[in-house]
Amino acid sequence: MTSNPVKVRIAPSPTGYLHVGTARTAIFNYLFAKHNAGEFVVRIEDTDLERSKPELIDPILSALKWLGLEWDGEIVFQSKRSELYADYLQKFIQTGQAYYCFCSQEELKAAREKAKAEKKPLMYNRKCLGLSADEVQARIKAGEKPVVRVKIPDGGTSFDDMVSGRITRQNEEIEDFIIARSDGSVTYNFAVVVDDHDMGITHVIRGNDHVTNTFKQIIVYEAFGFDLPRFGHVPLILRPDKKKVSKRLGDKDVNEYQGEGILPEAMVNYLSLLGWSPKTDRDIYTTEELVTIFNDANFNASNAVFDEEKLLAFNQEHIQKKSDHDLAVMVAPMLVEADLTTKYWLETRWEYLRSVIHLLKGRAQRVSDIVTRGAYFFSFDYVYDEKAAAKHFSEESAGYLEELAQRFEALGQFTTDALEAELSRLAEEKDVKKGKIIHPTRLAVSGGSVGPGLFDLLATLGQSIVVERMRKAVDYIRNKS
Ligand code: GLU
Repeated sequence: MTSNPVKVRIAPSPTGYLHVGTARTAIFNYLFAKHNAGEFVVRIEDTDLERSKPELIDPILSALKWLGLEWDGEIVFQSKRSELYADYLQKFIQTGQAYYCFCSQEELKAAREKAKAEKKPLMYNRKCLGLSADEVQARIKAGEKPVVRVKIPDGGTSFDDMVSGRITRQNEEIEDFIIARSDGSVTYNFAVVVDDHDMGITHVIRGNDHVTNTFKQIIVYEAFGFDLPRFGHVPLILRPDKKKVSKRLGDKDVNEYQGEGILPEAMVNYLSLLGWSPKTDRDIYTTEELVTIFNDANFNASNAVFDEEKLLAFNQEHIQKKSDHDLAVMVAPMLVEADLTTKYWLETRWEYLRSVIHLLKGRAQRVSDIVTRGAYFFSFDYVYDEKAAAKHFSEESAGYLEELAQRFEALGQFTTDALEAELSRLAEEKDVKKGKIIHPTRLAVSGGSVGPGLFDLLATLGQSIVVERMRKAVDYIRNKS
């Protein structure tokens, strides 16, 4: 075990985009590194040439950036390190714990079937282990291209997992796995050990689907005589149907959540609690707060379920924590994109945008809700909600709207209190319940029947727009009947 400063990594393979499972592993590594004043680095595991797609690297990196998981130093690409792996492979062969294997696919298949029939473990039968050095050289000279296997030692392998404590496996359960293919390229379990050692990684925090790999990797570390990093295998994130989150099941690219109005700090906060706990009764934390409290003693060993509904609840809380100005910066381009207004209109009405946001942010579960629910603050291009219109628009309500519009027009101060007092006065004079006037007024100025408090809404919209919209509603009602 080393006492070097903490250095951890996230090692995505560009065979798919970054889904919430890998994002959560990245978050744990980031929080752990920053809590310990250490480094968090990115390694792109792109050695599987058939499955790796270079065009996925940028989206993976932009998802990490969006989450605020800025990495330290240069990104390491496995595809650029083949010489290093080849050097280490030679060194490994010299340890005497590897051997060349010339078995063909057909032979391996036949041996596996035989083992199956005899109910024996389906592991490589070590046919090539006993080949003499001369025979190996002769066959290589003759043009055969062997793979390299690790000779798994007798005994058992154990390590102290940061999450689950001591874990042991009997080595007889581990196959003599291949570390170099017949073309000389090394396999994942070898490259990872070389990289983690070479990069000075002190802690390897990853999903518990890697436990079997860890035993193989430890055997490689030990054969080399390298110090082991500490390993922590965090429980997998499951979907609500208890299946593992995966791109095959259609789980989303983390970048998609950005487009859906999720705040990165809400995503980091929610995912940090899937497999780890602050052990308090509070759930809402900023990333900086998580860095301060994150400790590896509070990992949970049981699987956690990713639930989009819960993510939305976290998002709602984080939206409320954000300042009106910061939200306005996010919402402004969305309004322009939705064709509700223009950049230039907003530039001269920043205060208006801020007050709209102030009014709507309490109930928004997505930042984009402010746009969809608040469209009427920017455009009069709405149709009245049909059901609400059937209920609240009538000859009688047209009369109230007409009269109220006139009184609102005459108000010297268009404030929440003044508006409420004026509407109450009219209701009293007409001897009707206030609701009889409130509902049609809301419908007239917003097109709908739900939203923020009516008087705040009116005061924000402003006098001339309110009066104009109320009069348009009166015309609409009268033209219809
Ligand atoms: N490239 C591996 C993966 O995407 C990560 C392996 C590791 O963390 O060691 O699952």
